[in-house]
Amino acid sequence: MSFNSLGLSDALLKAINKKGYNTPSPIQQKAIPPILEGKDVLASAQTGTGKTAGFTLPLLQILSEQTTQKRRPVRALILTPTRELAAQIYDNVKEYSEFLDLRSAVIFGGVNQKPQAAQLRQGVDVLVATPGRLLDLCNQGLLSLKQVEIFVLDEADRMLDMGFLRDIEKIMTLIPAQRQNLMFSATFSKDIKKLAHGILNQPVHVEATPENSTVDVIQQKVYRVAKGKKIGLIIKLISDGNWKQVLVFTRTKHGANNLTKKLIAAGITAAAIHGNKSQGARTKALAGFKDGSIRVMVATDIAARGLDIPLLPHVINFEIPNISEDYVHRIGRTGRAGASGEAISLVSADETTFLRDIQKLIGIKIPVEIVEGFEPDPNASTEPINQSQGRSRSRNPRAKTGDRSSNKSNSSNSGRRSRERRR
Ligand code: AMP
Repeated sequence: MSFNSLGLSDALLKAINKKGYNTPSPIQQKAIPPILEGKDVLASAQTGTGKTAGFTLPLLQILSEQTTQKRRPVRALILTPTRELAAQIYDNVKEYSEFLDLRSAVIFGGVNQKPQAAQLRQGVDVLVATPGRLLDLCNQGLLSLKQVEIFVLDEADRMLDMGFLRDIEKIMTLIPAQRQNLMFSATFSKDIKKLAHGILNQPVHVEATPENSTVDVIQQKVYRVAKGKKIGLIIKLISDGNWKQVLVFTRTKHGANNLTKKLIAAGITAAAIHGNKSQGARTKALAGFKDGSIRVMVATDIAARGLDIPLLPHVINFEIPNISEDYVHRIGRTGRAGASGEAISLVSADETTFLRDIQKLIGIKIPVEIVEGFEPDPNASTEPINQSQGRSRSRNPRAKTGDRSSNKSNSSNSGRRSRERRR
């Protein structure tokens, strides 16, 4: 199938051509036609499937087919959980709309709101936003959502994980009831299904990969290893394999810092990316990782969410997540847009229960290997590690976590701002 057969305009095909895409990805093939028909869509797709173009291209086409009003009210709102993801989607919107008469903007917390407000005053057709800053600007009367025609909720599962449910509900009251809705999520818990039911109107269901399952092209492997030997093993794997671009997940910010230091000491360029790092430090780390000057990026789940790193060959779970769905998100960072990738998990005795839960969720048994000199400790307890060290299974956004704010007032602006700042 070619992009030509999807019914996209010449201006969009020109932009797609400029990006160098030849064939639409499965999610694009499935989602673009119903969106162009004006239908609501519920899509099961994780980052790396090409989902951003899957909703952005038809959305831009619909908007460009209508005559632009002089005032340019926001007609499409794309809501996304993190600043990084918002910035990436905005970059895509700009690239795809290069040959169209449409204006776009991105707004998120943690930076001065003045330039954002000034841009909104000039008129914007497509707005990409995180929930907190969006509500702040609406509350101050600097933004109206009364003319939104298309509403996109991206990474809906992560939105709920990050405690944005109330904000989403509030935003829904600010946009017209008559609108087209597009919702994307990598996993489908009961809460997500409930949210979808409340927002979408007779949606077309599309999926890039089967629900809650891992992409076929990703080779998964578990190394059973003693907890104290994990750092030695990861250094050996990266050095022996001469791996150049590796994304490593740890459960905590402290763990990410510690591992980064050890990797650097072993002569492997590395940077940590987590909620305590400034926006500047995160952007710099990501840029270094993309241009190859940093071989290893060590990240916590929330910080890594939505990062656009094309063709990532290696993902390592230094610690496996205690929330099984996070495993699907993490390894979705490899095998992107059809390229093959490898996802490795270092599993110590106390992570045995988490591994069992993950295998149950994805429906396969991951092959296990043991490396000589890095064997598991036969005397170690298989009691699960203290979950408060990582992210709690509780969906309560105020639960004690490694990467979240502990503000008391969930709905207050200050709480929200603080939450966005800390991603
Ligand atoms: P996304 O899942 O939207 O984050 O996209 C993942 C990556 O795939 C991004 O780097 C896109 O630029 C790229 N991509 C999106 N669509 C295509 C396509 N049809 N062909 C090749 N690459 C694509």
